Amino acid sequence: MIKIAFFDTKPYDGKWFDRLAGEYGVEIRYYESKLSERTIVLADGCDAVCAFVNDDINSEVIDALCAHDIKLLAMRCAGVNNVDIASAEGRLPVVRVPRYSPYAVAEHAMALLLTLNRKTHKAYIRTRDFNFSLNNLVGFDLHGRTVGVVGTGQIGRAFINICRGFGMKVCAYDVYKAADADWEYVSIEELCKRSDVISLHCPLTKETHHLIGAENIKLMKETAIVVNTSRGELIDSKALLKALTERRIGGACLDVYEEESDYFFDDYSDTVERDRTLALLLSLPNVIVSSHQAFLTDDALEAIARVTLENICGFFTEGKLDNAVTAQK
Ligand code: NAD
Repeated sequence: MIKIAFFDTKPYDGKWFDRLAGEYGVEIRYYESKLSERTIVLADGCDAVCAFVNDDINSEVIDALCAHDIKLLAMRCAGVNNVDIASAEGRLPVVRVPRYSPYAVAEHAMALLLTLNRKTHKAYIRTRDFNFSLNNLVGFDLHGRTVGVVGTGQIGRAFINICRGFGMKVCAYDVYKAADADWEYVSIEELCKRSDVISLHCPLTKETHHLIGAENIKLMKETAIVVNTSRGELIDSKALLKALTERRIGGACLDVYEEESDYFFDDYSDTVERDRTLALLLSLPNVIVSSHQAFLTDDALEAIARVTLENICGFFTEGKLDNAVTAQK
């Protein structure tokens, strides 16, 4: 039986993996700890390690995985910016789940946008307290407004379709223009100038790190709302905070945050040592933050479990490397 050590797990991870473990003939050991040089010992005797978005899998961790005779690193996520792929190359195969439910993420992006714009989170709290005032709850119609989509892959496309359902105009920026695109591609600067809503759906790479920084923020409309369900480091959070506090842009919907690995997925409500920028962002009335939950639907979790187990079993039983990640040359 193939033995797999799962790191950074939460109760909801088990639901689909446990249901499918028998079908795929694997034994799973769940660990809440993040994967690190220190915790790798938990994987002793396992064939594969399965990790997630906030496990910092740097070259030391790759060395440790190899030293512990782990044969495969299976990421149960799409983005693998947290893995030192170059260091793993030729020593430890790395696989991922390139597609599970682009709809889950795109729908969450729209949920955040609608919440921030129409202030339903505030209305919910108010009415429960028998406060039926409408003061400060004014939003704007999405219909007829322009959305700028950065990255027109699976999630970006799903988001474009949702926005079109709302009657929005679309412009997009991508380094690779889709041949079948029926939307206009513009430069990132033009997108920032033109858009009422800017939604990020590109991967985190050296090129996209702080893509939304002081310069591009300066080009945005005073009412522009920035939505990030991709990776925190796409936005320079300090520059975003500055623009928001100077009322130079309209608002921000953040499912991801630059320093999220220190906080997201756990309860720090009783602590006082807090990331200052995040705490200030959270204090603003025109910012909404969710803790990297855009993927969190049953449909996505089932697909993640199935593809992860197929990746693992394909490797150990047939020597296949489906969905392998290779270093960009
Ligand atoms: P995808 O590979 O289908 O699409 C990514 C798009 O970004 C592609 O069209 C690509 O050409 C484009 N791109 C690459 N480099 C770019 C650059 N420098 N500038 C502009 N565009 C660039 O990926 P996807 O499935 O649509 O996922 C997008 C991202 O969403 C992932 O990389 C991941 O970081 C994030 N994600 C977040 C969650 C969540 O729960 N919040 C879940 C899944 C994925």
